[in-house]
Amino acid sequence: MPVLEVNGLSKIYEGKKISTRALDHVSFKIETGQFVGIMGPSGSGKTTLLNVIATIDEPTSGTLTLNGLDPQKLNKDETALFRRRQLGFIFQRFNLLDTLTVEENIVLPLTLEGLPIHEMKSRAQSLAARLGIESIMKQYAGEISGGQMQRTAIARALIHKPSLLLADEPTGNLDSRSSREVMEAFELINREDKTTILMVTHDAIAASYCHRVLFIKDGRIYNEIYRGDNRQVF
Ligand code: ADP
Ligand code: ADP
Repeated sequence: MPVLEVNGLSKIYEGKKISTRALDHVSFKIETGQFVGIMGPSGSGKTTLLNVIATIDEPTSGTLTLNGLDPQKLNKDETALFRRRQLGFIFQRFNLLDTLTVEENIVLPLTLEGLPIHEMKSRAQSLAARLGIESIMKQYAGEISGGQMQRTAIARALIHKPSLLLADEPTGNLDSRSSREVMEAFELINREDKTTILMVTHDAIAASYCHRVLFIKDGRIYNEIYRGDNRQVF
């Protein structure tokens, strides 16, 4: 069963004078463990697509299933739980709390789940070790580098073992060295944990880590590339 299945998804923003068709009958499937990129020019519908999948925005028509569940059929409480249990989010601006330590940021999503503190700390510790940020666990998020911030955000997004990790321009604020470190972190958790990843990016370095890249323009997917054995820059 695919992790994500999107069928004929359209999104129209109705304005006073004009309406914008941000998504135009988008359909695709993502199988468990795939690492998929979405590329396209500004205004092509990438953020809208992520927002609809993230249940932040509702589609005008079409369907969406995540692990066989249709978020459009859930009530408000169920949607909040669905988002928390099934999805992890990574943003361009990291969205960490600067006045908390790296460790406190990573365990934050779990404090809502009521897990014992030692269990939270041990999960955070093992993720941090694998992402190469164990030495900065006691530092404040406001005083670490951009690459370290993004790896902290990845650990935070993974702490509750989501079925799907959604990333919006995760390397958009990083230099190329930090971008590679962050993409290697994505590659590691994709390979070892079979975490399925859907990432919007403008960045050819980031896209080169994907198994598959969907190209979107004017709200439509017009091309799709699969990576062969040799890494290629799209
Ligand atoms: P991208 O992320 O690829 O830059 P977006 O999904 O942000 O594209 O936008 C796709 C189109 O939808 C653009 O024309 C944009 O102006 C429009 N759009 C996005 N969000 C809204 C909104 N909330 N209200 C009206 N139009 C919107
Ligand atoms: P990016 O392309 O970097 O993701 P944008 O500048 O396209 O960001 O959009 C930033 C935010 O503004 C998004 O949440 C998008 O949905 C919203 N937005 C984009 N275009 C419009 C619009 N025409 N009207 C209202 N909101 C919009």
